Amino acid sequence: MGWTTINHTCGHETREQLYGKMADRDRKASAMGQSPCLTCRAEAGRAAGLTGTDKQIAWAHDVMTGVMGSLTVDDVASGAEQAARAVAAERGPEAARKIAAKAMTGYGDDPAEAMLAAGSSILEAITDASWWIEHRHDAGVEAGRMIVAQAASTTE
Ligand SMILES: [Zn+2]
Repeated sequence: MGWTTINHTCGHETREQLYGKMADRDRKASAMGQSPCLTCRAEAGRAAGLTGTDKQIAWAHDVMTGVMGSLTVDDVASGAEQAARAVAAERGPEAARKIAAKAMTGYGDDPAEAMLAAGSSILEAITDASWWIEHRHDAGVEAGRMIVAQAASTTE
């Protein structure tokens, strides 16, 4: 192990303790230098509205950027279908149909585009950094579930 100076893209230098073989440390140091420092990443995340510790926000902002850039209709739709099935089991298929329709209202006529727009919109409102970290692998599916859950909670 050893202390290495990292030159970040924001112009700041940080000292990091890196572990492993020299070649691995060099690789890690140059990878870390490809991004802004933690303070600047946290600042960017805070500017995007995220709340939490600097470390959480920096990580969550990376997750958020990645998720928003690669959100798929399949993920959002599968979450929405899961939630709609749960509603159907509880309140019957007719209520589930009404709620699913309500969930997509206002997002346009194209079903796929509406699904994506609704998913993006619900995700954009999530500012809790720890939520993003927790759902870094399933944020799209979770967005689908939330769309339907939200519509269900406001529908008789
Ligand atoms: Zn910086």
